[in-house]
Amino acid sequence: MHEVLGATRQSSAVFIAAPTGIGKTMAALYPAVKALANRLADRVFYLTNMTSARLVAARAMSDLHRSGLLMKSLVLYAKEKLCLKPELYCDTNRCPYALFYYDHLPDALGRLFLYEQIGETEILDCARACQVCPFELALDMAVYCDIIICDYNYAFDPRVRLERFFAQEQQKHLLLIDEAHNLPERSRSMYSAELDLETLIKARQAVQGRSGPLESDFDRVLDWLNRLKEAISTNQPGFFGLEPQVQPTAVMQAENFRAMRDLPQELLARCTASMRTAIFFWKPTWILTGGLFCSRVFSRCFSSAVSQSSFMMMLTSPAPAWTIKKTAW
Ligand code: SF4
Repeated sequence: MHEVLGATRQSSAVFIAAPTGIGKTMAALYPAVKALANRLADRVFYLTNMTSARLVAARAMSDLHRSGLLMKSLVLYAKEKLCLKPELYCDTNRCPYALFYYDHLPDALGRLFLYEQIGETEILDCARACQVCPFELALDMAVYCDIIICDYNYAFDPRVRLERFFAQEQQKHLLLIDEAHNLPERSRSMYSAELDLETLIKARQAVQGRSGPLESDFDRVLDWLNRLKEAISTNQPGFFGLEPQVQPTAVMQAENFRAMRDLPQELLARCTASMRTAIFFWKPTWILTGGLFCSRVFSRCFSSAVSQSSFMMMLTSPAPAWTIKKTAW
């Protein structure tokens, strides 16, 4: 506990390793609460990579609340877990919990303020009673909470991190990272993009006959992937006909494997064009297949292009899945 408090005072990191069941969660949470009380931090984030770890942290918070703690804590769940209208795929023009959200929000927040510890039950009850989106309500309530228990994503994933907290430089946050040895692997996946040939083919079939521009954009991406597949199958270098800017010395080659130390500019241009067209021609009927694919995969690809410290890998295997991965180091 002294170590955690000392690290908080110095704004530094401390790594704690101890056997399971010895009380690491409380040993981290208790000094964090003291740090809040002494204004050494504005807010505490307890970050986990598993639901079960979130429950352990929530139980530790219950113990503190039962002992008289008067701080607000909140467990943040994924949108999919809280959504009250999953069949609408978050079409905010149709979801009754999104329409008039801001009209109903003050009432919903007022009800949540009655609780010290806020979890799934409190959020869902309140969201149903006030007809507001539970996920958005949890995010809006988080601003008024001292301790937030949530997934790593909300602090580290560049696409979903909570800008309302982590874009504010003047705020001091104390991060308690549970099972931190999982963080490098999770971070790599947050900064990686994947293109799956089979999914892309399904997406192409889903938009068949619905949008000529999107069909031809998808065809250009498919053409790139198929030409690479063909090159690798016949043991050709792979990138030369596809990415004109890539120097032969920048390509690493082995059986079923190609890698290059650069972003694939041509592929990214084709993916970006497809993403733009998909957004422009967006139709709810595409959400299940083509639309979902476009928004999820291409937006990842697009956001990954922002980072320059990258290593582009092309992995192939005898199995039919073809994967392109970009890994940030
Ligand atoms: S607005 Fe909220 S409740 Fe409505 S579909 Fe989206 S996540 Fe679900």
